[in-house]
Amino acid sequence: MATLEIRDLHVSVEADNATKEILKGVDLTVKQGETHAIMGPNGSGKSTLAYSLAGHPKYTITGGTVTLDGEDVLEMSVDERARAGLFLAMQYPVEIPGVSVSNFLRTSATAVRGEAPKLRTWVKEVKETMAGLQMDPSFAERNVNEGFSGGEKKRHEILQLELLKPKIAVLDETDSGLDVDALKTVSEGVNRVRATGEVGTLLITHYTRILKYIQPDFVHVFANGRIAASGGAELADQLENEGYEAYTKGGASA
Ligand code: ADP
Ligand code: MG
Ligand code: MG
Repeated sequence: MATLEIRDLHVSVEADNATKEILKGVDLTVKQGETHAIMGPNGSGKSTLAYSLAGHPKYTITGGTVTLDGEDVLEMSVDERARAGLFLAMQYPVEIPGVSVSNFLRTSATAVRGEAPKLRTWVKEVKETMAGLQMDPSFAERNVNEGFSGGEKKRHEILQLELLKPKIAVLDETDSGLDVDALKTVSEGVNRVRATGEVGTLLITHYTRILKYIQPDFVHVFANGRIAASGGAELADQLENEGYEAYTKGGASA
C-alpha cells in the first residue's frame, strides 16, 4: 500500500518583499485506501499545503520532508509527482487555452501510465465516466477550464481523478461553489474512487457539508499552519457545532 508521509513541513512565501512562514511543521500520513479530511479556517494554510505538495514555485520549502513510499516528493518535478501516483486538484485551476478536455485527459493518462491508453477502450472509459458525473459529452471538446462554471471545474477535476487512478489524491475545496446536486454528483465520483480501495484521499475543506456525502476515516483540524487536532468523523460534527475558535486562540490565523 502506498503511503504519503509529510514530516515537520515548513513552507514560506514571499509577499510584499518579506518572507512569511505559512506552514509551521505539518505532520500527516495518508495511506492508499484511507480518506482524510483537513478542515480549518480561511487563511490557515490549507491551500498552501496543497500547492506545496504540487510543487508550485511560489512556495518555498524551508524544512521537513514529504515522501511517497520513501521516495522524496520534494525533489520530483511536477510530472514526476504525477507519474509517482500523486493527484493534486487545486482550488483555483488554470485555463489551458487551445487544449480540449479530451486531449488533456489523454495526454495526462499517457504521462501517468507511461504509455498511451488504447483508443477504443479509452473513449469508452471517458464516455462512461463523464456519464457517471452527469457531464454532457460535448464537454470533452471544450478548452480546459476556459469559461468553466464552478461546478464544471469540479466535475472536470473528479473526471481526471477517476480516469487517472492515482495512489494519493489531494482535493482542495472540491466542494466550494457547488449546489447540492453538483455536490452529490462530485461526492459520488470521489466515493467510486474510494470504493476501489486503491486511492488515498486528502480532502481539504472549509465546510463540513461535503462530509455528509463522503465519510472520512480521519479528520484533522488545521490552524495556524499546522495540524492542531486529529480524530475520526465525530471531530467534523464537533467542528460543525463549535467552529474553529478553540483551535485558533493564541495565534493569528492571518
Ligand atoms: P487557506 O487555504 O487555509 O484559506 P492559504 O494557504 O490560501 O489558506 O493561505 C494561508 C496564508 O498564506 C494567508 O495569509 C495567505 O494570504 C498567505 N498566502 C498563501 N499563498 C500566498 C501567496 N502566493 N502569496 C502571498 N501570500 C500567500
Ligand atoms: Mg482560503
Ligand atoms: Mg484554500
